[in-house]
Amino acid sequence: MTLSSPADREGSRRAMERARRVLPGGVDSPVRAYRAVGGDPVVLARGSGALVWDVDGSEYIDYVCSYGPLILGHAHPRVVSAITEAAALGTSFGAPTEAEAALGECVVEAVPSIEMVRFVSSGTEATMSVLRLARAATGRDLILKFEGCYHGHADGLLVAAGSGAATLALPDSPGVPAAYAAQTLLARYNDLASVRAQFEAHRGAIAAIIVEPVAGNMGVVPPAEGFLEGLRAICDEDGALLVFDEVITGFRGSYGGAQATLGVTPDLTALGKIIGGGLPVGAYGGRRELMEQIAPSGAVYQAGTLSGNPLAMAAGRATLDTLREDLGQYDRLDALGARLAEGLTRAAEEAEVPLVVSRSGSTITPFFLDAAPTNYDEARLADTSMFARFHNAMLDRGIHLAPSQFETWFVSMAHDEALIDRTIEAAAESFRLVRHG
Ligand SMILES: *Cc1c(COP(=O)(O)O)cnc(C)c1O
Repeated sequence: MTLSSPADREGSRRAMERARRVLPGGVDSPVRAYRAVGGDPVVLARGSGALVWDVDGSEYIDYVCSYGPLILGHAHPRVVSAITEAAALGTSFGAPTEAEAALGECVVEAVPSIEMVRFVSSGTEATMSVLRLARAATGRDLILKFEGCYHGHADGLLVAAGSGAATLALPDSPGVPAAYAAQTLLARYNDLASVRAQFEAHRGAIAAIIVEPVAGNMGVVPPAEGFLEGLRAICDEDGALLVFDEVITGFRGSYGGAQATLGVTPDLTALGKIIGGGLPVGAYGGRRELMEQIAPSGAVYQAGTLSGNPLAMAAGRATLDTLREDLGQYDRLDALGARLAEGLTRAAEEAEVPLVVSRSGSTITPFFLDAAPTNYDEARLADTSMFARFHNAMLDRGIHLAPSQFETWFVSMAHDEALIDRTIEAAAESFRLVRHG
């Protein structure tokens, strides 16, 4: 096992020092600053497959994978050449291109509930826009979301929003008008009674429920049996729309996303991450009759200078084509996720460290807890100081993990059994260290 001690990370330390002078916290997205685990972040220079290298030249097995987009791993040759070819033809036009309809066809073909799609440039834009549409289509203002689910950083969705915000203890960010946050109702994940209570209190006034069909931003928390079906029934009864935020789950566990696997059909879906193949893309879609309400077909305004960007469309297309051409890859990916989860569980048991690994296919979260959490309150009981020590020990052993207990680990198609086993070996050592102090 190669050890890269903090002393070997002098280049990262200096790079962060420089960045902090011009970027708040030295980063462009808060979790990257390592506030929840301490120490300096590793500053990365390059990636290939399942591996990344920092500016000091140390190698790591990567489970961040850009927080989900890189299902094919870093710098997949087909994605790189698609981007390169597109770039040579011009990077942005502000006019329609054929690439948009081509990726649109892929999405419509793949995702059961999507008949039409609109591309945007991030997951945040996708959820923000899809809720505007839901409000317009129903003529209602209220949105119901779940504690611990994250739907991007738009005002009104930054309420009990899980991982990044949770880690920083900023459940409600300053700057979000109270009057706007009041349009968001909260319920507890996997708890239909808490949803019914809100619908009883606000009958006929809730435009939509937005939910991560498999929660990933309080750490991985799969839906209990009947939970998503129950949401569907509650929406149908009340005339509200059901919105799946599949920004993580889209194309992740299966090509059709969580809705294909779980067999529950939402009215509208937000996508992001994997559909951009590592470039900035989001999308939202649903039934034709709803999507036709978007301008210029309809009156619901939503636009973007870089929406449908040719490079992003090319990266997305190369990624989806690569996935679709061999759907058996998803079974292999699931098996790798299972191998990692089982190995970590065993290693923790042997070290007598309380750990439960929550998993959905190739996404896992090892919680320092005795029992698998079913909602945010339970997830939050995890021992975050033990996680911080574990994270540091893993980093020293060449394993690059998201620096928060409440994030998802992503296994990619570029990982293999040997890399998974090296990770488990590093975890076994790290658990022993963590336990002894
Ligand atoms: C990442 C994420 C978002 C936001 O996407 P960005 O591209 O970061 O704006 C929204 N919803 C879920 C479930 C996510 O994981």
